[in-house]
Amino acid sequence: MLSNKHFIVVGLGKSGTAAIKALLNRNAKVTAYDENVNATSPVDHPKFSLVTGPLPTQFPAVDSIVVSPGIPLSHAAFQLAQKNGTPVFGEIELGFRLRPQSAGPLLGITGTNGKSTTTALLGEIVKHQFPNTFVGGNLGTAFCTAFEHVDSKPFDFHVVEMSSFQLEGIVDTSFLGAAILNLTADHIERYSTLEAYGDAKARIFLNQPKNGFAVLNADDVHCQRLETKAHVPVSHFSISKSADAHMSGVDEFSSKGIGFRVKNRALRGNHNSENAMAAVLMAQHAGIKNDLIQRGLDTFGGLPHRLEFVREVRGVEWINDSKATNVDSSLVAINAMQKNVWLILGGKGKGAPYAPLVKAAKGKVKGILTIGSDAPVIKQEFMGEFDIHECGTLSEAVKKANRFSQIGDTVLLSPACASYDQFKNFEHRGDAFKVLVKEL
Ligand code: ADP
Repeated sequence: MLSNKHFIVVGLGKSGTAAIKALLNRNAKVTAYDENVNATSPVDHPKFSLVTGPLPTQFPAVDSIVVSPGIPLSHAAFQLAQKNGTPVFGEIELGFRLRPQSAGPLLGITGTNGKSTTTALLGEIVKHQFPNTFVGGNLGTAFCTAFEHVDSKPFDFHVVEMSSFQLEGIVDTSFLGAAILNLTADHIERYSTLEAYGDAKARIFLNQPKNGFAVLNADDVHCQRLETKAHVPVSHFSISKSADAHMSGVDEFSSKGIGFRVKNRALRGNHNSENAMAAVLMAQHAGIKNDLIQRGLDTFGGLPHRLEFVREVRGVEWINDSKATNVDSSLVAINAMQKNVWLILGGKGKGAPYAPLVKAAKGKVKGILTIGSDAPVIKQEFMGEFDIHECGTLSEAVKKANRFSQIGDTVLLSPACASYDQFKNFEHRGDAFKVLVKEL
């Protein structure tokens, strides 16, 4: 079908590379563009060529253009191509078009926070009933990887994390189930308003089938505004009020009248209860048996760098929450803790005030250990109310926390800052922390 069709793939990241491989395996011709002049070809194939450097103002005439999520579709060259009748879409759309007839449905998850956790958890749950389930998208494996080979065995389900950028690039992609977890102004650099950002998220409802279902957060007003965009029955979850899924105890919730436990270290905190309720509603609608859903809640191992349990050393629990690169994320982490916390904070600050953390830390945090370039600002904010130890480096912070902590305490790395002043990225920071803790 695609034999000798010519595609342009823009962006050589994970999704662009997956798109290229899937297309070449179908005998299409592919020209890739990447702005990075040092980019190298991900494949060695006679039908593949690579153009590096700034994107042209006009692309050559081709059959379709596949754009990576990092590149805005508003770029003049895409607008022009579309005007000239060339279809322009994202890698998810390509995957959707390449999937075999017998492939199972898509369950999509979006929102500002909690997408990866909810996707991984729903994947875990669905796999207990359908082991042959694809889990990926924005998280982990690119969607096109599921259809890389023409003759690969079709998946029974596809649990797909969708960023707003990926949702901008869909055309016909249809999600049997679609969840929007929440909406905050965290990522609005690419959108002029929160409304525009929400509209991009609501594209997840665009082509849902008649038997489709949607899941929304009843506690989030911005999320609720998007309900009108859904054309299928909507189920709600809430941490505070009665809804289709709502908390019935500290570690318990009921969803569609069935009780579930969330006594899993990987799912602590109210934010994770929300993620769990969203995943459970999606699973119930998708036909997963309730006992298998409970099993998934119990077996879920969590994702690295998100309130990740590292180890216990002499009765002290060590937790890696390096993914908390802003104040909001560290706030949910502190709120998820019981008491007696030694909190490692700092890195490259994002300019947001730390005041919400000071409030949440009261009565819970025994001491603050600061690292990185924003340490003076953090000290200023917490001074007077807390014991503050300036450590400079993560290794010093781990050393000091180990010295100060006592049986029953928790040491939490939840920096509320980006990592770039001392590390390559948050993963690098979290991995460094885990190595230091394992050496104690
Ligand atoms: P995403 O993929 O949307 O970035 P993750 O599951 O990776 O989400 O979680 C990222 C961070 O967002 C977590 O470390 C936590 O601080 C915060 N978070 C997770 N779930 C929620 C939620 N439901 N509401 C608010 N914050 C959350």
